[in-house]
Amino acid sequence: MVIDNSPPEESAAPEPPLACPICRGTEFERQESRQDSMWGLTSHKMRLLICTRCRLVLHFYEGNSIFDFD
Ligand SMILES: [Zn+2]
Repeated sequence: MVIDNSPPEESAAPEPPLACPICRGTEFERQESRQDSMWGLTSHKMRLLICTRCRLVLHFYEGNSIFDFD
């Protein structure tokens, strides 16, 4: 006799829709920016998403975002 108490398989959480936190807009202009660190040894590549409605700029560090901009 097998008692299966395991919870149902959870599928990977879907990506949350990217929406502007101010105006809830979902259209963004994409820009890249490179920012030198304080000591000039490294530079950080940033992804900028600019809300086309209210012009809020969202910054994403290049790398591990759940959002795939390419
Ligand atoms: Zn906005």
